[in-house]
Amino acid sequence: MPNRVLVADDLSAEGIRILREAGLEVDVKVGLPPDALADLIGDYDALAVRSATKVTAKLLERAARLKVVGRAGVGVDNVDLDAATRRGVVVMNTPGGSSVTVAELTVAHILALARHVAQATASVKGGKWEKKRFQGRELAGKTLGVVGIGNIGSIVVNRCRAFGMRAVAYDPFISADAAARLGVTPVTLDELWAQADVVSLHVPLTEQTRNLVSADVLRRLRPGALLVNCARGGLVDEAALAEALAEGRLGGAAFDVFEKEPPAPDHPLLRSERFICTPHIGASTEEAQAAVAVGIAEQLAAYLARGEVKNAVNLPAVSPEALERVGPYLELALRLGSLAAQLGLGLGGVEEVKVEFAGELASAPQRPLTARVLRGLFQHFLEEPVNEVSAPAVARDRGIAVREERSADAEDYVSLLTVRLRGQAREVVVSGTVFGRKEPRVVRVNQFRLAAEPEGDLVICENDDAPGVVGNLGVALGEAGVNIARIALARADDRSAAFCLLNVDSPPGPELLERLRRLPHVRSVRVARI
Ligand code: NAD
Repeated sequence: MPNRVLVADDLSAEGIRILREAGLEVDVKVGLPPDALADLIGDYDALAVRSATKVTAKLLERAARLKVVGRAGVGVDNVDLDAATRRGVVVMNTPGGSSVTVAELTVAHILALARHVAQATASVKGGKWEKKRFQGRELAGKTLGVVGIGNIGSIVVNRCRAFGMRAVAYDPFISADAAARLGVTPVTLDELWAQADVVSLHVPLTEQTRNLVSADVLRRLRPGALLVNCARGGLVDEAALAEALAEGRLGGAAFDVFEKEPPAPDHPLLRSERFICTPHIGASTEEAQAAVAVGIAEQLAAYLARGEVKNAVNLPAVSPEALERVGPYLELALRLGSLAAQLGLGLGGVEEVKVEFAGELASAPQRPLTARVLRGLFQHFLEEPVNEVSAPAVARDRGIAVREERSADAEDYVSLLTVRLRGQAREVVVSGTVFGRKEPRVVRVNQFRLAAEPEGDLVICENDDAPGVVGNLGVALGEAGVNIARIALARADDRSAAFCLLNVDSPPGPELLERLRRLPHVRSVRVARI
């Protein structure tokens, strides 16, 4: 059955075409009331929205099949991320798709403030010719203070430097090297408020950034400074700003976003002569709308077809550089998790999962790999679908401790990934590596060293280190019509036990398994499917 996508908000035609061409069944139903949407959502694997549709916990409860929500745009305030994460629904956005567009509006606001463009237009249209009143100021040589130099902030810096401005920025999550590459001087927030002639905000609205520009901060800005907020309503204390403008402490302010949208007609800022605004149109250009629609359509199609996760907002963030490094190990992590879980049945309750990163992997980002291991662990054992988003929460809910450990010692391998499941009774250990950047290999199962392909149906046998065991296994499987594709053998260093892992073309049934278990020298036989 093809995957079904519901497009619930306006999405440009190009995006819908991409979804259909990917073989998805697409229904476009824009503007449904919440109840009607809730009645339909159970039939869909993916939901594409912009900002209008509210993806609430209540809606998600009805979305039994839903795997992914795609937001064409950046902000995901309209999606209950916690509820989505709990239900294993990946939420993706399209960061960057509208960055240039938003940055250009920001620059337009800065220029308009510096030269009173909006007020002068109104004056001329009102039949006046007030040349003196609208004397402005140059940007060249002035200091731009950017709070948040992510996608948009960095483009604003780039454009403003072209006007001859000096840029300082505050962003706790960016290295000094990256700031230098962007041509900004990193400063503290206090320094930024004190130095900037133009302050531009480009941070998300979080607990730390709500009311970032408070009455106190407004008092510390340079006299005549300009303030621009094209990021999120709620970053600025609007009443305090109206006061600062009325008292002439600030030169002007421009908003594209308000705490409450639209603002009330008697909002104090709307009465201020020094205040200009736009109705949250930061991302509204034809180019940006097409870019975000194409972006989200491609991401949804890749996720539904291949499980490829890009720009998920409720997953640990992985930069493209990081993905380049850990990419080949993602599949290995999933398979090791799955193998460990199947070998770990009967551990008497898993208490701890430890993921060890050795060799080159020790310096790679670990959270995406750990999330994959956890997904591999749980995917066969839970009724609800599990993915990288929900697996860590599943572990937490189940009181399973998750630990990560780095080590320089990768034995003879460039990188080694090890999963240890500790139960009340005993421990299961599996290790693996990747050959030639794309072939996952299991190189250790408990005390046994081997090189096996973790793929398809497996028969895993522990036995005495005695002649004839593998032959007997082969005969029994062959007589039952089970073809062996590959065999990996191992023995304990002290030869106290031996081990073999067989890749078979079909899973052995219960009778055959019983027969295998009764063969001479065989201690245990397990089956697994990866
Ligand atoms: P981004 O994630 O690329 O950048 C945000 C930056 O803020 C990051 O570098 C992050 O490290 C930094 N940051 C986070 N918390 C911070 C804090 N407490 N102090 C300082 N820096 C902090 O996001 P972006 O794509 O550049 O978007 C920036 C803002 O623009 C967001 O609020 C977004 O919602 C908004 N936006 C508005 C419109 C619009 O229509 N006006 C359209 C798109 C995006």
